[in-house]
Amino acid sequence: MDHEVVIIGAGLAGLSCARTLAAAGIDVVVVEKSDGVGGRVRTDSVDGYRLDRGFQILLTAYPELDRWFDLDALDFRRFRAGANVWTGSRFARVGDPLRRPSDLVSTLLAPIGSFADKLRILQLVASVRRGKARSLLSRPEMTTMKRLERGGFSPIMIDRFFRPLFAGIQLDPDLEVSSRRFEMIMRMLAVGDTGVPAFGMGTLSDTLATPLPNGSVQLNRAVLGIDSGRVSFADGGSTTARVVVVATDGPTASALTSVSDPGSRSVAALWFAADESPLAGPVLALDGAASGPVKNFAVMTEVSPAYAPIGRHLAVAAVPGAPARSSELETESRSQLRSWFGPVVDRWDLLRIDRIEHAQPNQEPPFSPKKPVRIDANLFVCGDHRDTASIQGALYSGRRTAEAVLAQFANAT
Ligand SMILES: Cc1cc2nc3c(=O)[nH]c(=O)nc-3n(C[C@H](O)[C@H](O)[C@H](O)COP(=O)(O)OP(=O)(O)OC[C@H]3O[C@@H](n4cnc5c(N)ncnc54)[C@H](O)[C@@H]3O)c2cc1C
Repeated sequence: MDHEVVIIGAGLAGLSCARTLAAAGIDVVVVEKSDGVGGRVRTDSVDGYRLDRGFQILLTAYPELDRWFDLDALDFRRFRAGANVWTGSRFARVGDPLRRPSDLVSTLLAPIGSFADKLRILQLVASVRRGKARSLLSRPEMTTMKRLERGGFSPIMIDRFFRPLFAGIQLDPDLEVSSRRFEMIMRMLAVGDTGVPAFGMGTLSDTLATPLPNGSVQLNRAVLGIDSGRVSFADGGSTTARVVVVATDGPTASALTSVSDPGSRSVAALWFAADESPLAGPVLALDGAASGPVKNFAVMTEVSPAYAPIGRHLAVAAVPGAPARSSELETESRSQLRSWFGPVVDRWDLLRIDRIEHAQPNQEPPFSPKKPVRIDANLFVCGDHRDTASIQGALYSGRRTAEAVLAQFANAT
């Protein structure tokens, strides 16, 4: 036996699994097919800009964060609560007046729904804040759309606010994802902040990997198959372990093991460099007018100036779904953003388009988290597809799988 545990995949789930096992004194190796750690959470340096792999944000209310990160050490930078909603002719500021009283008047006047809709938001927030967070995941379930309709929200409120917001967070423009996930995200937004580490989302992955023993992460090692504790690599080699943990994305896990493919939610991100910022402050802009393919837009340098060289700005536009060809995507997105910000958009340089086919597992009803992680005595599986489709879900899934492996080892002795 070469190792006690081999983990396949160095995303957040694989890394939190490895950290938990290593802390318990287990000989663990992580094998990763790509050239770096982090999986879907990585940041690339491109001409002095920091480009995350797709537009991602961290929600500080995720319960698992305290266990792994010190937000001050990450130099965590926050978005302003709420959003600037494009209503067809102008942006309307929709904030959280409880946190930022100066947003009260603009929020009440914003043409995103009736006064009753805005009161219903308060009711919704009160409802999702009730009880323990995990109790939300066992509430009666329906699609997000049904939940909003049952909550009495008007079509205009749904289309102008919830649809673009959840197109960004859950890559769910059609509001098909489980109401359990929707309610959980609403709670996280209500009780915490959103933001990014100053030097990019990839800092999370690097921070998680750094304390692992030297040599315990092997990069550029794609796994082809697993057979009773033997892992075979694309380079022709193999290794053996008492337990193998598959910490890949859901579709790959279903190819390597007997778990079912969760399905995929895809997204594209367009990264633009600009001389001047088109938004004032660290705000999230939402398309509340169905004005084009871009549903969410932000200027990352308004949140953290380290995302671009001094004197430059970095903006990101997120397009959920399976978008058209890159040239059409750029043309349509620029045309939409020109209607928001004017002809200055034509002077922005397109740095990169990220297309992420499997950005999140699909979590439509019926959705129950905490899916089994033990397949048999030698084979376990973890990742966001076993828990919730999020950074929280990946971190938690890795840890809970490691704890299941440790329990099995303890029972065997
Ligand atoms: C664009 C985008 C936006 C998102 N927005 C947010 C957000 O705002 N907030 C939030 O909480 N979550 C967000 N998410 C979701 C979150 O990033 C993921 O849920 C989480 O990172 C999943 O981690 P994971 O470890 O389960 O899987 P992954 O990150 O996919 O890690 C799996 C790893 O396995 C490796 N691997 C795959 N196949 C093999 C093989 N055959 N051999 C060896 N290694 C292999 C992969 O290279 C990868 O490193 C977003 C995701 C994307 C892509």
